[in-house]
Amino acid sequence: MIFHTEPLISVGLIENAAQIDFELQGDYMLDGRAVPEGCYRAVYAAGVVALSDGSSRELIRGRQVCLNPVALQDNYFTLHNVAIGHEFHWERLQSQRFRGELAFAAFGHEGITAVNRIGLEAYLESVICSEMSPESDGEFLKAHCIISRSWLLAQLELKRAAGVPASSPDGVFTDAATHKNFDVCNDDHCQRYHGIGRVNPAAQHALAATRGQVLMSDGEICDTRFSKCCGGISERFSTCWQDADFAYLKPVADCAPGSVVFCPPVSAEADARRFILADPPAFCNVTDPGLLARVLPDFDFETQQFFRWSVTLSQSELQGLLLNKTGIDFGGIKSLSPLARGDSGRIYELKITGTKAEKSISKELAIRRALSPSHLYSSAFIVESSAEKDGIPEAFTLRGAGWGHGVGLCQIGAAAMAAQGYGCSAILAHYFRGAALKTIY
Ligand SMILES: [Zn+2]
Ligand SMILES: [Zn+2]
Repeated sequence: MIFHTEPLISVGLIENAAQIDFELQGDYMLDGRAVPEGCYRAVYAAGVVALSDGSSRELIRGRQVCLNPVALQDNYFTLHNVAIGHEFHWERLQSQRFRGELAFAAFGHEGITAVNRIGLEAYLESVICSEMSPESDGEFLKAHCIISRSWLLAQLELKRAAGVPASSPDGVFTDAATHKNFDVCNDDHCQRYHGIGRVNPAAQHALAATRGQVLMSDGEICDTRFSKCCGGISERFSTCWQDADFAYLKPVADCAPGSVVFCPPVSAEADARRFILADPPAFCNVTDPGLLARVLPDFDFETQQFFRWSVTLSQSELQGLLLNKTGIDFGGIKSLSPLARGDSGRIYELKITGTKAEKSISKELAIRRALSPSHLYSSAFIVESSAEKDGIPEAFTLRGAGWGHGVGLCQIGAAAMAAQGYGCSAILAHYFRGAALKTIY
C-alpha cells in the first residue's frame, strides 16, 4: 500500500506519568468548549485523567482527554519534564513546545500517557531540527527530510502488515511497532522529536522542497535507517535487528570512490582489527570542529571522539556492569571474545567467559548495553586485556569505531558530503544503493 495523502500520525511524548504539567499558548477546544491560554495540570486518578486549570479547578475527567488548537499554525503547547536520551549518556529532562492536538489517556492502570496528533510534514519539521542542527547544509537537511519521512511511512506499513515481529522474544531489539498506543515515540528509539524550539527557515525550506518525497525499492517504501557515525563502513540490517536484509541497505565504504582503503566486509577478526586500529579516509572521519559544531545538536557535541574511541573498564567495574545489566554473576572475567561480526566490524555475538559462568550475547544493541552504564558508542570494537593476576586480567580496553548501529545513512558522513558540495540525491544514492526517489503526495 502507498500513501497518497499526508497522513496524521500520533507521537508518544510522556508515558505512564502520575501528573503532567503543561501550558497552552492560544485557545484550545476541549470537549466542545474553548479553554484559554494558561497553565494546566493532568493528574492520573483511579483509571482516568483529571484535567484542572491554574487555579486547581477541575475542567474534565475521562479515560481520554483531547485538546485541539483553534489556530493550527499559531497555537502551541509546552510540556514540562519531557525525558530525552532515555538510557543514553545525554539523558535529561526538557520543557518542549509542540503544535497539533494534545491528548492525555489512561491506558491500562499505570498512569497518564501524553500523545501529540500532528500531520507528518509538521512532525518532520521538528524531527530534522532535533536529529541534527538546523544550521547544517541545506542539501543534508533535504536528505534527512526524505529518510525521516520514508522511515516513518515504512514503520506505519510494517505495523499494518500482519505477522511482523515487533521485537525479538527476549526483547533485545525493538521497532516502532512495539508502541501499542501511538505510532512513534519522541526519542532516539524511533526518531528524535523535541518540539518546535529549534525550527528555523532553512529547515522549513528543506521540508517544503521535499514534500511527499520518499525512497522506494521494489514497489515498497524503504526502511531508511540512519545513525550518527558509521565509522567508515556501514552495517547490514540483520546485525542489528531481525534476520532480514534489504537490497538498498548494503554495507558501503563511506568515502569517495577514489579513496577507498577498506572495503566491506571487514568481518574476519584480522580485518576488523586492522580497520578499527586504522584512521582511514571517510566522510564521517571529520576533524573540523567547525563542521561538527554546525551539524550536531548541543548535547551531541558533548561527545567528540566517535570515529575512533577507546574505553577502559577495570575488572571490578566490568564484573559490576555485567551483573547489573545481564543479571549473571560471571565471577572473575577471563575474556571477552567476538564470535561474529557484521560487515562493518560490529560484533553481533560476543562470548563472555568468567570463572563462574560463560555466556554469549547476541545483537549489537544488547552488546552495547551490557558493557556500559548507558551504551557503548558502537559494537565495532576490539578487546585488549591488561596484565593478569591469578589468570584474571586487571582491566580491559575496548578500542572501537563509530557511533550507533551504522545501518543506512551515516548522519555525520552525509553532513560532511553536503559540506563538500554533494547534492541531496547524490547523498541518498551513496547510502541507499539502487533506491529510487519518488513523490507520493
Ligand atoms: Zn520508539
Ligand atoms: Zn560514516
